[in-house]
Amino acid sequence: MQGATRLQAETSLAINEKRGSVMMVTSDVACQQVLMVNLFFVGAPGARTGEWTLVDAGVFNCAARIKAAAAELYGANSKPNSIILTHGHFDHIGAVKELAEEWDVPVYAHPLEMPYLTGRSSYPPPDPTVGGGAMARLSFTYPRGPIDINDRVQALPADGTVAGMLGWRWIHTPGHTPGHVSLFRERDRTLIAGDAFVTTKQESAIAVLTQKEEVNGPPKYFTPDWEAARRSVETLAALEPNIAATGHGLPMRGAEMQRELQELARDFERLAVPRQGRYVGHPAMADETGVVSIPPAVSDPMPKVLVGVGVAALAGVALYALSHRESDGARRKVTTRRQRKMRARNKAF
Ligand SMILES: [Zn+2]
Ligand SMILES: [Zn+2]
Repeated sequence: MQGATRLQAETSLAINEKRGSVMMVTSDVACQQVLMVNLFFVGAPGARTGEWTLVDAGVFNCAARIKAAAAELYGANSKPNSIILTHGHFDHIGAVKELAEEWDVPVYAHPLEMPYLTGRSSYPPPDPTVGGGAMARLSFTYPRGPIDINDRVQALPADGTVAGMLGWRWIHTPGHTPGHVSLFRERDRTLIAGDAFVTTKQESAIAVLTQKEEVNGPPKYFTPDWEAARRSVETLAALEPNIAATGHGLPMRGAEMQRELQELARDFERLAVPRQGRYVGHPAMADETGVVSIPPAVSDPMPKVLVGVGVAALAGVALYALSHRESDGARRKVTTRRQRKMRARNKAF
């Protein structure tokens, strides 16, 4: 039953409990959704200034919303000890510059992510031909950097610890980006996985709008190294997390999530890798200076004018999807994962 994978009551704390503008993932990890992306506050509500950490920083123009959530959790004017970035994609760094300056805190990222955070290199172009959904089709419009926070950003400590997050370690999980990291806490096996894998079908606008939960590989249109992405999912599955909080989709936990994650690791080629696409079998190459080579673009069977028509239609489809969200939720309980995938594929355009 799909509902069983949703965050549920754990001891005295109601998990998935909405608390103002955030959702409690554990007693000391809160998830804030800003448009279609998640960011996380690590530190129990009421923690003092300097005793909590922000993980990722949402989309452009969302600093006020993040500050409002921080004030709800930790009190007005409370500041974190640092900001940790799972990676530097535009939907994870939107407010990082503004917040780091206002809070006067360091930002930590993997050394291989530095070129995209210090103005040296853009990410490889997305591949809008993969994934088959509207979010993928529109990916040619997404910014791919770089930003420049050279005066704030530092490399994560080489020993795997995470500054300011006691009991957590960072794990290099490249593929989606070269310096992508995930964060794991052994004590309760909580995993913040960024976009190494996600708990929605991010290529599909329908799935993104309805936040239908299912473990999926990294967003296809923005993943330029599938072999590395596969190894990263294997690494994360081997951790056997109890809770998976990812960059997109609702946090998931328990047996259903674990089964889906193991299945994804075992059968990554079939479940996550596009059948064809610009980076399939031809990864973009990057080093500490940024992107050094990319394969040529593949021909796109859908002209951009049709994509424009699709965008216009999307508004109507979105309304339809939202109005049918409840009844779809009821149906989902008796469908298999395969059937759900088929339905998402048919609905997406
Ligand atoms: Zn990403
Ligand atoms: Zn993302």
